[in-house]
Amino acid sequence: PNTQGIIKGSDLFGYVGIEAAGFEFNIMVVGQSGLGKSTLVNTLFKSKVSRKSCTPNYEEKISKTVHLQSVSHIIEEKGVKMRLTVIDTPGFGDQINNENCWEPIVKYINEQYEKYLKEELHVNRKRRIPDTRVHCCVYFLPATGHWLRPIDVEFMKRLGNIVSIVPVIAKADTLTMEERLEFKQRIRQGLQANGIRVYPQKEYDEDAEERILNDRIRESIPFAVVGTDKEHQVNGNKVLGRKTKWGIIEVENVAHCEFAHLRDLLIRSHLQDLKDVTHNIHYETYRVRRLNESNA
Ligand code: GDP
Ligand code: MG
Repeated sequence: PNTQGIIKGSDLFGYVGIEAAGFEFNIMVVGQSGLGKSTLVNTLFKSKVSRKSCTPNYEEKISKTVHLQSVSHIIEEKGVKMRLTVIDTPGFGDQINNENCWEPIVKYINEQYEKYLKEELHVNRKRRIPDTRVHCCVYFLPATGHWLRPIDVEFMKRLGNIVSIVPVIAKADTLTMEERLEFKQRIRQGLQANGIRVYPQKEYDEDAEERILNDRIRESIPFAVVGTDKEHQVNGNKVLGRKTKWGIIEVENVAHCEFAHLRDLLIRSHLQDLKDVTHNIHYETYRVRRLNESNA
């Protein structure tokens, strides 16, 4: 039952795990090389999520320059098992001329919608359609302290219409507290000025309670994150951190950076909402467009 090419036949444990897990959640990370994407993916899996098993890496070349690397783990949150897959996109935006560099990524996202649509239209459709749709795209901004760059604007403008985007400031440990606050504010202004739609979007707040919760998130994006794959001893506890000459930056300590906010948003508080928005808004938009096309 190797439906997605991600699970090898021999990886029986992984497969059984997924069946038991009952659902999939797929996150994509995008940003230029060296911004700490791969490190953050490791951080996400190493941080306080309970990992049950791991399926092998899966690689695919989606254009001349952009590759896809995906890693899946079965994780358990509050007694609920799921398969969390993170798709890394090395090569994005690394060319001298980055014109149309978002194209392979747009294509990949749409292909997953197409796959799902085909399954839905299938007469003898599967009881449960394998879900490879990208539920969230985490976009890495370099911590320059300046403004959104043209490539950031172009990417997020295009992708904001087909997927939920969560922008983050990469390697935020390179900014002072003041710089961080100022940069975050500038980015929020830049997003608004360019009409960029990022998650969570106001239009989709369902009630007053959700609005209050989401307003707080909207006021604090982009999250300023720090990643690491090392653990250190702090007061007798093992913590994920970056050791510098002047101390340890604790990645999961909200006094140090906002990684924990990002993780909580993605795999705790907003996981179901991200899945709902993907299905009800982004996929639905794709589906309607495709069905109109074929009726024309
Ligand atoms: P990628 O090319 O986006 O996948 O970036 P990598 O994860 O390979 O990281 C590139 C380099 O930046 C490595 O040397 C990492 O150790 C370092 N790095 C990753 N995350 C951080 C961070 O949050 N802060 C700092 N200062 N360095 C980081
Ligand atoms: Mg990488």
